[in-house]
Amino acid sequence: MNNFQRTLKRSVSFAGIGVHSGNLISVEIRPASANTGIVFQRTDLPGKPYIKADALSVFDTSLATRIGTSEAYVSTIEHLMAAFFGFGIDNAVISIDNSEMPILDGSSAPFLVLLSEAGIEELKEPRKVIIVEKTIEVVDEKNPARFIRIEPSKQPLISYAIDFENIVAIGRQSISMDYTAKAFCEYFSFARTFGLKEDIDFLHSRGLAKGGSIENAIVVSRTEGVLNSQGLRNEQEFVKHKALDCIGDLHLIGMPILGHVIAHKAGHDLHNKLARAILSEVSSRKIIIPSAKETSRLKSLLSFPKSLAEVQVNFNGLAIG
Ligand SMILES: [Zn+2]
Repeated sequence: MNNFQRTLKRSVSFAGIGVHSGNLISVEIRPASANTGIVFQRTDLPGKPYIKADALSVFDTSLATRIGTSEAYVSTIEHLMAAFFGFGIDNAVISIDNSEMPILDGSSAPFLVLLSEAGIEELKEPRKVIIVEKTIEVVDEKNPARFIRIEPSKQPLISYAIDFENIVAIGRQSISMDYTAKAFCEYFSFARTFGLKEDIDFLHSRGLAKGGSIENAIVVSRTEGVLNSQGLRNEQEFVKHKALDCIGDLHLIGMPILGHVIAHKAGHDLHNKLARAILSEVSSRKIIIPSAKETSRLKSLLSFPKSLAEVQVNFNGLAIG
């Protein structure tokens, strides 16, 4: 048992459609040295600018998590960030020739397959860990029913609840699970993003969500329920996707976090506010480089699979690994 930073063994390239632009986007994920963090590079812009993926570089959370500046940004990074969490990847450079990550199937599973194929490399630098010592909470000012907090906990846990009272097919769902890489790979990674048919039609009419379709999302109609012919991959796929988003958004902190995340009707905005609060509230958490003794105490937090062969991911219609 150890706790070293990780990157990829070799580069991996792929292409896919952007959900907002509908464009075919090419991506290359490359290994990077220790303490680089996760860095995007916009190869289509003059000067090919780099954009550091951290909680403080998030500047828009309205449709997806967007990092950078209004001149150079990358959107919809959360499903890839969650996949990085799944393998404990701290360092990588991602070249991309557009302003949004390809949506692929709307989940993190295809990213896990790509990363597993590239292989995971352990570096020589130790990884830092955040231990939450006092509850940190963020509540939506306009709607106090929306909140997210992290409480001190001996084990990493995540509890997430959603309540779509007007949409019968989604309704109320809640989960409480280990907030570990293995649990992420096995229980959350395959959960697809979802949208309401009526909202998607409205976005299409405004020239938005051009690439959004039944191929890369669960599409729900108020009257007809889930429209995807294969149905859901899991009964709790909706809330599991929200937890996936949360895990991806919190991986922008750049360190594993020991605590219990509790979220109710949250979203990218609150996930990012919590990430910023965790980083700034010095008195309510401590950052350590775990010693050998602490590493064994933090075993579940610091156990990251090295390939999909180490986890069991199975769900309706798809088995990866
Ligand atoms: Zn998502």
